[in-house]
Amino acid sequence: MPKRDLVLLALDDSTILQLMQRALRAASYETAAASDRTALNMIIQETVPALIMLGEQFDGLPGGKLAREILERFPTMPILIYTERESLLLYKEIVQAGLSGCLYPPLRNDDITGSVERSLQRARNLGDWLRREVKRTTASLERRATMSESELKRYEFIFANIQDGVIILDEDGRIQLSNRAMELAFDLPGKQTRGKLVSEVIRHPDIDSLLKRARDLPLKYHEINFDDGRIYNAQYTPIGGFGSVITMQDISYLKQLDRMKNEFVHTISHDLRSPLTSVLGYTELIQRVGSLNGQQIEFLDRIRSSVESITSLVNELLDLSRLEAGFDTRRELVHLENILKFALDTMEGQFKVNSLTLHLDIGKDLPELRGNPIRLRQLLDNLITNAVKYSSRGSTISVSLQSEDNQIIFRVADQGIGIPQSEHVRIFEKFYRASNVPDQVGGSGLGLAIVKSIVDSHQGRIWVESTMGKGSIFFVVLPAHSPDKFSVASDLNN
Ligand code: ADP
Repeated sequence: MPKRDLVLLALDDSTILQLMQRALRAASYETAAASDRTALNMIIQETVPALIMLGEQFDGLPGGKLAREILERFPTMPILIYTERESLLLYKEIVQAGLSGCLYPPLRNDDITGSVERSLQRARNLGDWLRREVKRTTASLERRATMSESELKRYEFIFANIQDGVIILDEDGRIQLSNRAMELAFDLPGKQTRGKLVSEVIRHPDIDSLLKRARDLPLKYHEINFDDGRIYNAQYTPIGGFGSVITMQDISYLKQLDRMKNEFVHTISHDLRSPLTSVLGYTELIQRVGSLNGQQIEFLDRIRSSVESITSLVNELLDLSRLEAGFDTRRELVHLENILKFALDTMEGQFKVNSLTLHLDIGKDLPELRGNPIRLRQLLDNLITNAVKYSSRGSTISVSLQSEDNQIIFRVADQGIGIPQSEHVRIFEKFYRASNVPDQVGGSGLGLAIVKSIVDSHQGRIWVESTMGKGSIFFVVLPAHSPDKFSVASDLNN
């Protein structure tokens, strides 16, 4: 036999209470009566009735107020209010509070059971609808969860098979995920690396310096060299609020191509040098062996100046290939400020001719650095000459040399033509000249490539900040000499 619905009656008037009990029981409902508010709460808590019939006043409190309190705890509970007389105000309260309805005399059995039945039916419908909605939402969530699981698998598969090495780190530098290419490159034991610090797992000096650089500068590229000849280009990308990603591409074949190209350029430059020297020699000799007319002298001058500019290009090329081949091993302790002062002295004429003002700022007690003084002079010369070359007449060039955190910082700022933002990296490439260089300003596009090679061979960094039409600032940061490193470095170089 199905369980019968329990109707809880909370009425002060005992005659009405009995009347209702009789009518409901006759219609096969179970009933319970609450004598006061405490009993009412207790019965609701323990039995959870199917419906509550509340007097308009019960135990000294308005039925409407009690009904609201009950609905706060049991929002779907059907509640009927019994009132002695019909009133518009009560109807309003019933609608506002979301109650099921009200009953008032004259009370016939049918009125009582009819109201209770209708309220229960409404509550059942509401319950059914709620259950259907919950089921529908759950099913859709389940569908979404399975979908994202399969999607996740798909992404995992793609991630694992990316040809470039990828490693994802959290904000503390702990490994979250790495793919097969990365694991193969560093011979990592797959999933066991998860949660470990990248510096613990990958012990490679180039990765260490990439991470070290990453702390100081935005978007970093770095070459990772392996003993077996492989070379990777690694990129460090911070991802705000999550951590960072290191990606690596194998560029060994590009490096090989580069080497072949360099060797080719070196051979050609080398072979050109002797004929050029002899052309220059003969231009000198021609004038000594007989008299020339004015036009012949002018033509000879043009030949000489053209040959000189080709010779300087060839010399720059040879210089660069020597630097790139790593032949620049000479190292001694130098005071960069002395080299800078010397360089500026010899450039005084250039400043004067272009009516440029020099603003010089050299820090006190600068530390020494270990380097090749001739190459460092070339570095300073090239950068300052560029500042002069690309400045407008009458402007100011500011040169500064400072030290900070065991580093020497050289900075040259001009108020010249500037460099387009998209070309800031490219200007350090061989032969690259920015798109805004005026036609009449000559150059080979090799000066900065030479500077970059010198900076690299001194374990330094170089970058430019520039605004078109306003000027450029070139920064060079070189490590200062630290005595404890000296013995190792000198052993290596000797
Ligand atoms: P170049 O012989 O053309 O001067 P560099 O290698 O020295 O070659 O410089 C490469 C390019 O970088 C230049 O052609 C020029 O476009 C740009 N550049 C270098 N220095 C400056 C500067 N101080 N101001 C503006 N542009 C510069």
